Amino acid sequence: MRSEGLGVHPRIEAWLAFVDESAEGAERDRLQEHLESCARCRVLVEDARRMRSALQNDRLLAPSPAARDAALRAFHPARSTPPLPDWAQGLRERAARLVFDSHAASGAAFAGARSAGLARRVRFESAGVELDALIEPLGDGRRLTGQVLTLRESARPAASAPWIISVDDRVDGEGRTDESGELVCEIAGGGEIHVRVAVRPGELAVFRIPLADPLR
Ligand SMILES: [Zn+2]
Repeated sequence: MRSEGLGVHPRIEAWLAFVDESAEGAERDRLQEHLESCARCRVLVEDARRMRSALQNDRLLAPSPAARDAALRAFHPARSTPPLPDWAQGLRERAARLVFDSHAASGAAFAGARSAGLARRVRFESAGVELDALIEPLGDGRRLTGQVLTLRESARPAASAPWIISVDDRVDGEGRTDESGELVCEIAGGGEIHVRVAVRPGELAVFRIPLADPLR
């Protein structure tokens, strides 16, 4: 019980070094000896080992491809992924959050678009990537005009970013954003629109634009 007295216990830093195996030689022997006679420090060392092991496990949290596929199926229960071009294979899809959705006269809503019809403007965000889009009626179909921005320090156009647009899981167009981060695509009428944009390496942001009544 000689080691139970207050002030005799080694400091937490010493125990962390012990657990990390960076404490060596006489220091390690001293700690080992203390541990054998001190239940209080044994509890502390056990906690430190548990914490260290949990942190190591955290590094292995990346899901397996099978787990990811199962999660994607759960997210789109009735849908399959459209056939994507080669450059998109193997990228991780990241779903975006709709932050703005309105119907507006197109002239006022979006500088780059010209149409007399009722247009819809949407804005999405996904981990520092923003899509601002206008969807206008065009003949039997629609036209989507959008701008992709990255929001890291300040908003910047995502130039030359590859994109794919599909409607109800059929690919309607693909291309690259211009130097202003803009894209234009004529798409089918009706149906949910998916805009996929690769702004960052390894990642494909997916913007899902659900149907809205006036454009059905
Ligand atoms: Zn102790």
